[in-house]
Amino acid sequence: MIPIHWSEITNEWKECFRTAWESFKEGSRPVGAIVIDDKGHLVSTGKSATFGQLSDTVISNNEIAHAEVNALLKLDNRIHKEVNSYVLYSTLEPCPLCFCAFYMSGIRNLRYAAKDKYGGSTNLRGTTPYLSKKPIVIEGPVKYLEQLSILLNVYFDLCNNYEKAIPVHELMSEDYPMIIELAKEWVESAKLKNPRKLKIEDVFEMLMKDLRSKELLI
Ligand SMILES: [Zn+2]
Repeated sequence: MIPIHWSEITNEWKECFRTAWESFKEGSRPVGAIVIDDKGHLVSTGKSATFGQLSDTVISNNEIAHAEVNALLKLDNRIHKEVNSYVLYSTLEPCPLCFCAFYMSGIRNLRYAAKDKYGGSTNLRGTTPYLSKKPIVIEGPVKYLEQLSILLNVYFDLCNNYEKAIPVHELMSEDYPMIIELAKEWVESAKLKNPRKLKIEDVFEMLMKDLRSKELLI
């Protein structure tokens, strides 16, 4: 089902986006990742912590402290012996680091919310004998959650004048032109200036309202 209201989103995606929002509230990039076990239980969450010390992360203040890596590093293989049937969720298509960490973790199912034409590297699958070996399943993007993911990331970059993100936005705008524009509008009106007063469900409903008013909600 395509979610139009927060209540229509699956619990796994709700948790994944809550994690991304926590990251944003703590001053870091709003990317979140979670791992679900074969019984559907949440076993791990990971935030993007390259921009600072964040709560509940394995590594912070490091260029490779990405959300998926932080989620995967929590899986102690003495406890999690059967990870093949686990699922890794990420709000953004994994970069080369995170895609290969997923691949090497033994988890075989990957779901991501939004495409990332710049750094997204799920197309590495099948490019070497090793990366052709495992029967992995990749699903994504997810309608409307992809818009939420891109909106949060572009908003974060613009607020922080993150110049390295300019070429990223250029490529993302090929897939999400209206969302890049909407993120600029949200920055100009400081729509997320008090993130601690907002829940991720509030942000999602604000996005849906804007898409509806622009007649972009299909
Ligand atoms: Zn990554």
